[in-house]
Amino acid sequence: MNKFWNPLLNELEPYAPGEQPQDKKYIKLNTNENPYPPSPRAIAAIQQATNERLRFYPDPECLELRKAIAKYHKILPEQVFVGNGSDEVLAFAYLSFFNPEKTILFPDITYSFYPVYANLFRNKYKLIALNDDFTLPVEKFLQENGGIIFPNPNAPTGIFLPLKNIEGIVKHNSNSIVILDEAYIAFGGESADKLIDKYSNLLVIRTLSKSHSLAGLRGGYAIGDTGLIEGLNRVKNSINSYTLDRLALAGATEAILDREYLEKTTAKIISTREKVTLSLIKLDFMVLPSKANFLFITHPSLPANEIYQLLREKGILVRYFNKPRINNFLRVTIGSDQEMDNFLHTINEMVNIHP
Ligand SMILES: *Cc1c(COP(=O)(O)O)cnc(C)c1O
Repeated sequence: MNKFWNPLLNELEPYAPGEQPQDKKYIKLNTNENPYPPSPRAIAAIQQATNERLRFYPDPECLELRKAIAKYHKILPEQVFVGNGSDEVLAFAYLSFFNPEKTILFPDITYSFYPVYANLFRNKYKLIALNDDFTLPVEKFLQENGGIIFPNPNAPTGIFLPLKNIEGIVKHNSNSIVILDEAYIAFGGESADKLIDKYSNLLVIRTLSKSHSLAGLRGGYAIGDTGLIEGLNRVKNSINSYTLDRLALAGATEAILDREYLEKTTAKIISTREKVTLSLIKLDFMVLPSKANFLFITHPSLPANEIYQLLREKGILVRYFNKPRINNFLRVTIGSDQEMDNFLHTINEMVNIHP
């Protein structure tokens, strides 16, 4: 507290990002970063852009990047908005589309940034409880609302909702916006990008942080009806017209164009995920079906917070959320095969010591 603060700050509970410890080298399976390097084309482009032209402002329209994204999704550049990480795009989307007078809906177990933005922007919200098996109760998103937001696959569960259910929600809510956060869609789910031409109330948000190994670059985007994109631009140009710098624009554009590299690295992560799932099941873990680059797991006799602590002591970081319904679960990012062998070896020892 400070007497100069806007009183609103006293009530805020800001988002708590996963740890990024600087003390020693950990095996980081806690923030869903990609174990593989970014596309070599992206790195080369960033290096090339590191030149005297940095004295100029970047392109405020981000046209080259938007063209690359449009090509990838087979849409028009006018249907693309880009931002400094998808967290920023999400914040702009709240400001653009959620009327604070109306109640928005999102799941009780989901990306923990959603309530943070709702509190900051004064949005009323109602939490929709996930089913007991952590699937999304589609019918509860058909009630009256001032907007809907959820990730697909959901985080931190990893559970993917089939496209026909997504379409059902979007179709039924033709008078309110549906924001679909596809941060993890490249790891085996089916994108709703093919629905944006059909439904003017659907906004799909993506990030380069996970699938494109560019968490350190900060690149995210939204695709949707041109009217929605115009709304986002109005907000952006009322806050900061240059959200992506020259290096980020160069790197993100090449990363998006290098489809082959994306396909190769995501296929590797999916195959590691399936192997690790089987190994964990053999050790008695319950593993939720994941279409993301992480697993959400629980063990019948080893408490999650103890596993978390023991792994940490062994130099392995995973994510533990001390929250209702999920306080006996761990979220484990899929790393390289070697990192996951190391993780499984340590878990195996624990299970043998405390059967
Ligand atoms: C990681 C993540 C984001 C944020 O990604 P950035 O682009 O790095 O800001 C958004 N939504 C979900 C569900 C995520 O897991």
